[in-house]
Amino acid sequence: MPYHYDHILIRYGELSLKGKNRKNFIQKLKDNLKKALAGFPDLEYVTEYDRMYLYLHGHELDPVCGIVGKVFGISSFSPAIKVEPTMEEILGGVEHLLDLSTPKTFKVQARRHDKLFPVNSDTINRTVAGMILRGSDWKVDVHNPEVLIMIEVRQDAAYIMTDKIPGAGGFPVGIGGRAMVLLSGGIDSPVASYLMMKRGVHIEAVHFAAPPYTSADAREKVLKLAKLIAPYQGDIVVHVVPFTTLQLAIYKNAPESYAITLMRRMMMRIATGLAQRRHCLAIGTGESVGQVASQTLESMYVINNVTNMPILRPVVCMDKVEIINIARKIGTYETSILPFEDCCTIFTPKAPVTKPKLEKCEEYEKRWDWKEMVEDCINMAETIRITPAETIDEDEDLF
Ligand code: ATP
Ligand code: MG
Repeated sequence: MPYHYDHILIRYGELSLKGKNRKNFIQKLKDNLKKALAGFPDLEYVTEYDRMYLYLHGHELDPVCGIVGKVFGISSFSPAIKVEPTMEEILGGVEHLLDLSTPKTFKVQARRHDKLFPVNSDTINRTVAGMILRGSDWKVDVHNPEVLIMIEVRQDAAYIMTDKIPGAGGFPVGIGGRAMVLLSGGIDSPVASYLMMKRGVHIEAVHFAAPPYTSADAREKVLKLAKLIAPYQGDIVVHVVPFTTLQLAIYKNAPESYAITLMRRMMMRIATGLAQRRHCLAIGTGESVGQVASQTLESMYVINNVTNMPILRPVVCMDKVEIINIARKIGTYETSILPFEDCCTIFTPKAPVTKPKLEKCEEYEKRWDWKEMVEDCINMAETIRITPAETIDEDEDLF
């Protein structure tokens, strides 16, 4: 009767950190895993300097692995069985774990973390391999084995594993601070959000809606996208900004060709205001150089000019196909291509300026009192916390 895996061994991601930073990394990863695995209450988490162990305590392996694979900060993980740190127990564990009835090629790779363990790695490898060779038709292949038997011997236990599953990489979300991401209903900004989270940045989202020009369906689509990316950081706060009044004022006061540029400047101002209230240190967008008129360097220059905050643009130099590939991988693509209008698509001018001038923007903006409108947008933003499982409406006391 083969053993059932009772543990998952987790290897940390880019962990060149030392001292306190390392402690923070590990603690954050543990917190994030606990949040993501809240549906598995019996799991036990044991953290060590270079590994984390999840004790399944009867929970099924596959659904837990499915979630572990999405949590950032993990380079790889392996289902494992835990045995006493003795040669006898290790041999017994390997024998029970493997189904030796069909011939396969294999390699044993032992690591002795506990240097006081009386048998060295090489001898463990040879002893385990010898037992398998004697009891089956299995053959050793050190270069390209079908089954890699990994054994880690520690002071209190030995772990036996046969799979190494790639983790999501990156840093645990939250150790990189917070950013306010402009989330549209398109393909690019959900991908940009994902990439920021991957580098450890906890994100909040701001979405600009222009009812009645944009529909309830368009709004729902954005909330759905937020729900799809929420599992990567646990939950996500979305601010929906009522943008209609400001947008109409732009159309009334500026030439059509500058409408998109001015709209983007207003979006940046509002995002900056929200970011400050929410203690974010950066703004994020899904802009990509040259993709559309408002994403030339000239446009970015005048749009960037209204804020002092760093703007993170993770997809700025990616081709559309590359962005789409990530969108498919993270499961947002199908939702992003649903044909609901965005506030930008409705007000898109026939001939938007591709090389806007800063002086012109400033000149047009002198024509009306937009500051109050920007303030109103910030104050009237509807704040919604989205968890992977449910949606809770919240009020201003989130600020
Ligand atoms: P996306 O696929 O992210 O919508 P896009 O290729 O359609 O990007 P634009 O529509 O020019 O490009 O938008 C550029 C960026 O501006 C978006 O990636 C997003 O960050 C932000 N943005 C655009 N429209 C909105 C909106 N209605 N609400 C919030 N952010 C927006
Ligand atoms: Mg868009």
